[in-house]
Amino acid sequence: MATMFLKESLLGEFLETLRLFGELAGPTLSVQGVTVLAPVTDPSLLLLDYKRTQIPPKKYLLPFREKVISFSKGGYHNGGDEPARTVLFAIHPCDLEGIAYLDRVFLADPADPGYARRRSGLTLVGISCEPDDFCFCSGTGEAAPCDLFLNRAEGGFEVTLSTARGEEIAAAARGCLTAFDSASKGKKSPLPPLRKGGDVVPAVRPQGLKRATLVPGSVDPELRFSGHPLWEEFARRCVGCGACSVCCPTCYCFDLREYPELTGGHRRMREWDNCLFKNHGEVAGGNFRPERLDRLRYRFLHKFCGFSPLEGMSSCVGCGRCRQFCPVDIDLRELLPEEGS
Ligand code: SF4
Ligand code: SF4
Repeated sequence: MATMFLKESLLGEFLETLRLFGELAGPTLSVQGVTVLAPVTDPSLLLLDYKRTQIPPKKYLLPFREKVISFSKGGYHNGGDEPARTVLFAIHPCDLEGIAYLDRVFLADPADPGYARRRSGLTLVGISCEPDDFCFCSGTGEAAPCDLFLNRAEGGFEVTLSTARGEEIAAAARGCLTAFDSASKGKKSPLPPLRKGGDVVPAVRPQGLKRATLVPGSVDPELRFSGHPLWEEFARRCVGCGACSVCCPTCYCFDLREYPELTGGHRRMREWDNCLFKNHGEVAGGNFRPERLDRLRYRFLHKFCGFSPLEGMSSCVGCGRCRQFCPVDIDLRELLPEEGS
């Protein structure tokens, strides 16, 4: 993997070069004051010091609602137009890991055609980050799965090129990239924000929050989950809003819904669903998970223990969103081993 250096003063020029590879999107503040990934119309509005977006990058790969197939005039038509090429800029390592997990799910044989189309048009530019008290990923960002990774360094960024597309971008941006001076490595300094982040992040650790790291294999589904008393406590507080699943970079529950039209046509749509919702487990004659406790435990078991064919693989990337956005402060880290234990 080649490494280059991008001077902070040349960041704007670098961003313009990225536009050659697709519509540029990155972290910015919505009019409602929420940190979101959105098209970059004005680079000075980019939030390089953000903590997390409310909705993760999965929205670029799994649209909230998409047509799978339609029927009209006696014929079937597959859904899915050719997606626009998109460059996602300044994506944190945890979200890059989240995309890598979705790739395992949706690109496994047979690949999901819509996901595969969108994924092939997506260029990923990662950026290093500073964790807050909600984060618990164990990654360093050095090996984050992306095309280019920007690591903050003295006066700019160390740029790692990880894929052929990354090399292509570097060739196009050769006017603003120089050889990386390894002597300056280690002198990393936070880049002054172009604009203040919109996340409400507590300056001190909120009461009850604790640091936990995700140790592979440390979560025993029998001992740590099945009869754990915290499930009763969580189920009592949970309001079933589903926010933890909506904001999770690796949650991908969906439903297929049929929409008949008065003209005789018909559309079959795939829409985000949520395993925290009671009707998600409903089948003819019953419900797999009738109680809230069942649904909470199901989601967390899926996160930490996986299921076939990804059984044993954790899909939690430690982004901290479910804790930050849960209205009743349910913190799944309470079920995880303490750091160092
Ligand atoms: S379970 Fe929570 S912390 Fe883990 S990836 Fe999903 S939203 Fe992030
Ligand atoms: S965000 Fe919190 S309250 Fe809402 S469904 Fe998830 S755990 Fe329950």
